[in-house]
Amino acid sequence: MNSGREVILCKYGEIVLKGNNRKNFESMLIKELRRRASPHGTFKIYTNQSTIYVEPQDEFADIDGMYESAKKVFGIISVNRAIPCEKNMESIIETAKAYLPEKLFGKRTFKVDARRSDKRFPLTSPEISAALGGVILGAVKGIKVDVRHPEVTVTVEIRETKAYIRAGQESGAGGLPLRSAGRGLLLLSGGIDSPVAGCMMAKRGLEIEALHFESFPYTSERALEKVLTLAEEMCQFCSKIHVHIISLTKVQEALRDNCEEDYFTLLLRMFMMKLSERCALEYKCGALITGESLGQVASQTLSAIAVTDSAVNIPVLRPCIGLDKSEIVEQARHFGTFETSILPFEDCCTVFTPRHPKTQPKLEDVMAELAKVNFEELLEDAYATMRTETKLIFESYR
Ligand code: ATP
Ligand code: MG
Repeated sequence: MNSGREVILCKYGEIVLKGNNRKNFESMLIKELRRRASPHGTFKIYTNQSTIYVEPQDEFADIDGMYESAKKVFGIISVNRAIPCEKNMESIIETAKAYLPEKLFGKRTFKVDARRSDKRFPLTSPEISAALGGVILGAVKGIKVDVRHPEVTVTVEIRETKAYIRAGQESGAGGLPLRSAGRGLLLLSGGIDSPVAGCMMAKRGLEIEALHFESFPYTSERALEKVLTLAEEMCQFCSKIHVHIISLTKVQEALRDNCEEDYFTLLLRMFMMKLSERCALEYKCGALITGESLGQVASQTLSAIAVTDSAVNIPVLRPCIGLDKSEIVEQARHFGTFETSILPFEDCCTVFTPRHPKTQPKLEDVMAELAKVNFEELLEDAYATMRTETKLIFESYR
C-alpha cells in the first residue's frame, strides 16, 4: 500500500454520466490516463465513487509529469494531489501535520472542507473541520482561518477505504472524454483558428483526424512542417492525430488559368470541401471541422459560407464561428498552439489571392466559374496525391 505517498484524484462531471454512458465514459477516461501514464512510470489507475485514483506504485513514478498530463485529459473537471491515510482522526491529524505545512507555506488564510462519502465515520463533517483547523493553526506559522474567501481550501475526504487530505485543487480540461462523440475531420491550416477549432471539438468528445492542403512549390516545405508541429502540439490534448496531406497545386493552376480572379478563393474552397468530404468518408469521420469565424475574411461572410456548405452533404462544425479573434487567441494560448501559429509562413489560401474577392457570391455564378475547369478530374487527381503522417503526444502512445 502506498500510504505516505501522494496520489492524484481526478473528478469528472456527474451530469453527463447518467445511465449506460457512465461506465463507458469511465472506462474511456481510465484507458486514456493509463496510456498517458506510460512515460511517467508505474501507476495504479482505477475508479471508485465518481473519482479516478492515480496511484504511483514506486518511488520512480513521476507524479509531477503525470499530474500535468492528467490536467489535459478531456472529461476530467478537476485534478487534485492528495495524501492518503488511515480512516481515523489520529492518523488524519498526524498525516496533516506532516503533509500540510509545506503546502501551506506562505499562505495567509485557509479553511477546511470535510467530506464524508462514508457516512459511518464517527465524526460529522463540521467536527472533522474544527479539529483539523486547530491542528493547522498550530502547525503553520502566521496562517489564519477565513471561511468566506480563503486563499487555500484544505479538503479531507473520508472515502471508502481511506481518508485523503489535500490543499487546493486545480481545474481539469473539462468537456467529454476523447472519442466519446465519434470522429471529426479537421481542416487544418497553419493559422491560429483551425488548431483551436480542432481542440474545441476534441473537448466535446470528438477524436480528431486532420487534413491539410498544400500547394508545393507555391507553399514551402517549412509551411508544411509548421502544420505538422501544430498537430503535434494539439496532441497534448488530442493525444493522437493522423494528418492527411493533399496537394492543390494542379487545382490552383487550373483555376488561375481558366477562371475569373475574383472567384479564386471561393472556387478553391469548393475543392477543399469536396476533397474533405471524401476524406471524411474514407476515414469514417462524421463531420468536418473548420476554424471559420463569421465575417473574419471575405470567404467567411454568410453568403460565402452558404456557398461552401452547398458543396458537401456532411455536417460542418465551426466552433469559432461566434468568437472574436482575441477570444480565439486566448484559446490558442490555452491549448498551446499560439506561438507556432504566428510563425510567418504562406498558406495555399494566400497564393493567387484575388485583389477583390467576392464577399456576396451567388451560388449560380460560382458554379458557372467552376464549369470552366474539369472539376471531377481535378478532384480525382488531387485526391490521389494524399499522404498521411501521424502525430502522437509521445512516441509510445498507441
Ligand atoms: P486559420 O487561422 O485556421 O488558418 P483563417 O482565419 O486564416 O483560419 P481561412 O484561411 O479563410 O481563415 O480558412 C478558413 C478555414 O479553412 C480554416 O480555419 C481551416 O479550417 C480551413 N483551411 C484554410 N486553409 C487550409 C489549408 N491549407 N488546409 C486545410 N484547411 C485549410
Ligand atoms: Mg488561414
